Amino acid sequence: MQVKGRVLSVASECVPFVKTGGLADVVGALPAALAPFGWQMRVMLPGYRALRHRAANWAEVWYEGNLWGGEGRVLSGNIDGLDLMILDAPHLYDREGGPYGAHSGPGGDFWDNPQRFASLSWVAAKIARHGAGDGWKPDVLHGHDWHAGFAPAYLAYGGKAGVGSVMTIHNIAFQGWVGAGQLDDLRLPPEQFYPGALEYYGNLSSLKAGLVTCDRITAVSPTYAADLVRQESGLGLEGVIRARSSIVSGILNGVDTDIWSPEHEPIPYSAADMRGKAINRANLCAEFNVDVPGPLAIVVSRMTDQKGIDLLPQVMPEFIANGGGVIILGSGDAQLERQMHDLAWNFPGRVGLRVGYDEPMSHRLFAGADAVLVPSRFEPCGLTQMYGLRYGTLPVVSAVGGLADTVITANPAALSAGVATGITFHPTDVPAFAIALRQLTALYADKPMWAKVQQRAMAQDVSWTASAAKYVALYEGLRG
Ligand code: ADP
Repeated sequence: MQVKGRVLSVASECVPFVKTGGLADVVGALPAALAPFGWQMRVMLPGYRALRHRAANWAEVWYEGNLWGGEGRVLSGNIDGLDLMILDAPHLYDREGGPYGAHSGPGGDFWDNPQRFASLSWVAAKIARHGAGDGWKPDVLHGHDWHAGFAPAYLAYGGKAGVGSVMTIHNIAFQGWVGAGQLDDLRLPPEQFYPGALEYYGNLSSLKAGLVTCDRITAVSPTYAADLVRQESGLGLEGVIRARSSIVSGILNGVDTDIWSPEHEPIPYSAADMRGKAINRANLCAEFNVDVPGPLAIVVSRMTDQKGIDLLPQVMPEFIANGGGVIILGSGDAQLERQMHDLAWNFPGRVGLRVGYDEPMSHRLFAGADAVLVPSRFEPCGLTQMYGLRYGTLPVVSAVGGLADTVITANPAALSAGVATGITFHPTDVPAFAIALRQLTALYADKPMWAKVQQRAMAQDVSWTASAAKYVALYEGLRG
């Protein structure tokens, strides 16, 4: 197919190589989603230890002699159809641990993260400006979250050479704070250190740097984009978003519908034949040693304050008394993990728990459960509610961000119109969540209605197709 345009996507995570959250899913899925439109995307990633070994024999397409204490080489190649550019700079990335630190707990971050991600951004901006050694030159530089925030800034300050830039906000809670004293070291122009540009409450933020210098800002759902102008969602950056509102839009994430398909599970099922789901449910109950006469709910989540997991111990007793049960898969905050252990201990046979990160298990959960609970306090887009729709595992979600954009709540009007796909509640608190679970229990008891909502949920398009078209329109708008 003729190449209509080229995008350099710059990120810290990408499925299937490195992932701590939904950001990685998006970065990994976008190239294939854009390809049918004739847009070619290369993903530029830090050369983390595991990645640099895979890129060892690739072509060198950029060399940088002075990258914060060492040299860097960009190696270009393809793994499983994904075009990658790996920034091989061992002094920055060849380390034990995760992408951001030796461990994910408090104090675990690498001390030189500003320089590590500034390096990635620096080289990305240069490749965007000059083109890579193999002749590949992007029309658009697309940065994701704070890790890539300096990329549009370096591009803007060093000369854009006709290249447009996009910043996507996956989660504004992570802002890339850096002390003001590092301005020079980070090769940023001192005259740009004022509130309308780089200065951020007396310091620097790589995310803000990207947002004030890029040509387009996207957030990962329309509701999140709209919410970001408010203090409680913008988390300090609301003024920046407001000032640039004419270039802000929300584009929902999609899901990889090959990987997330009930028809591709070991015991498959589909909207046309749901028998496999009943078998999956029985197997799941056996795996977790639970016996649940009412709705079997699941939670698949990072355990952080954002996700509202702390509400579970308060809403579960009534839900369980009404016949429900829950299986929880997740890890993170130690106190939340303890709370979940207590919950499981208090309700044997009704609460299953696996602390950890386990993708195959998450598939078994979606394939076997009746409902997925997502009681987030804020949620830029959220993926698990979309997996739930696809698997007929009805989402019960707080009506925030992308959750509000993807689930139509089963109120009487929506039920009679046949458009309901799950249950939403608001605000994110115990009373509202408890009411939602009562609704879930009642809906589950009405088998014909339950089946209707399941069918409607499974018919919803959660693929990348519509969203990829929106990104293409955005890129094309930048090319003029
Ligand atoms: P966030 O990016 O804020 O963590 P998302 O819902 O956007 O939230 O994406 C989370 C992704 O990580 C989903 O693909 C979800 O299935 C996956 N995930 C989260 N926790 C686990 C876990 N413990 N085991 C397996 N997959 C998980």
